[in-house]
Amino acid sequence: PDLGSKSCPAPRKLLVFINPCSGSGKASKIFNGKSKDILNEADILCEVVTTERVGHAKDYIINANLSKWDGILVVSGDGLIYEVINGLNERQDWDTVRHMPIGILPAGSGNALYASIMKFSGEPNDIVSATFIIAKYSTRPLDLMHLQSKKNNFLAFLSIGWGMIADIDIKSEKFHFLGSNRFTVEAVSMIAKRKVYRGKISYLPCDKEPEETRESQWTNNGNVSERSAVMDETFNFHNDDDMNVTQLDANHQQSAILTVGDDSNPIPSLDKPLPNQWKVIDQDFITVVIGNLPYLSTDFLFAPPSRLDDGKAYIVAVSDKVNRKGLTKILLSTKNGQYIESPDVQLIPCKAFRLVPETEGGYLTVDGEVVDYGPIQGTVEKGGLQVFCL
Ligand code: ADP
Ligand code: MG
Repeated sequence: PDLGSKSCPAPRKLLVFINPCSGSGKASKIFNGKSKDILNEADILCEVVTTERVGHAKDYIINANLSKWDGILVVSGDGLIYEVINGLNERQDWDTVRHMPIGILPAGSGNALYASIMKFSGEPNDIVSATFIIAKYSTRPLDLMHLQSKKNNFLAFLSIGWGMIADIDIKSEKFHFLGSNRFTVEAVSMIAKRKVYRGKISYLPCDKEPEETRESQWTNNGNVSERSAVMDETFNFHNDDDMNVTQLDANHQQSAILTVGDDSNPIPSLDKPLPNQWKVIDQDFITVVIGNLPYLSTDFLFAPPSRLDDGKAYIVAVSDKVNRKGLTKILLSTKNGQYIESPDVQLIPCKAFRLVPETEGGYLTVDGEVVDYGPIQGTVEKGGLQVFCL
């Protein structure tokens, strides 16, 4: 008789990626400190892969027999999460493997996903708390952005950055050893330069939501609803329509035609004009970020109203009208999200977006990694991934 299966469930298995080059190089120390023992105690077996180069985790994910594991744990920053999800996306069995829970132990410079997960879990930002979330094996859906550039279709979970923020992210790479301080050092020099970028942002706005739906959405989410309500009060944000993005085409690698909501509203390819209900901001900017999470790093509350699976991305545009003093003030009030109250900052929730840079030369980042500079567009898929979160 099989008595064993109920009284003693098989241990869970995690595939663990450790990036020795992330942040200030402490990933291995972080994992082998308390985390490894806590997971061990929770009867979770860990198979560790130490990444040896850019793209290693992605290639590993593409080729591995993932059915061996019950989840993927990344001990790095957001860049390695980006590799993992794009690796998953390039597999034939994407529709199965996308449900594998992904967890993060913060060893990068920014750690946006970690900061967001800790917030929604109601836990303090520390490694032990982050490890407990994984040990408890509780998961939540996370929105995904399906992106299209001239050459590629790919995924993002965090951000598209252009202008000053991308310059800071990329140019500060040389200060990698400083950990998150590298952003501050570079930001000072970027404020002095105050470079202006011209371009066009188009977006499909979120619909207004009826009050009743709003209530039921809040109450579905247990303790998060309380925290969200507090945040909404502080920032006086409206909870816009919950959207529903459905991917029409099963062969997502080949086509970027997506339906948004129940409008069956396909997004034309990048070189085609956009439908009438899209809105356009055509001006000079200091920077534009399109983000999917509340935090852009542990020190940057980017979009206070954002939820892990609200089906929305948030466009933050800093106008070129801002002077150096204003810009400094904006950068100094990113920690608590107050920066969005600046008259030079716009925060716009959307379901889909297109960014067309007109200024020649510059950086474009996706999830903090450099991509080819040029037009990019995307749609949000509500809850397309699973992450470890209480
Ligand atoms: P950080 O927040 O410090 O940038 P990330 O997790 O974003 O940390 O990782 C940065 C990059 O490191 C990722 O793009 C990943 O591809 C790359 N990477 C992974 N392993 C290595 C390695 N052994 N050497 C160099 N780069 C690596
Ligand atoms: Mg979202």
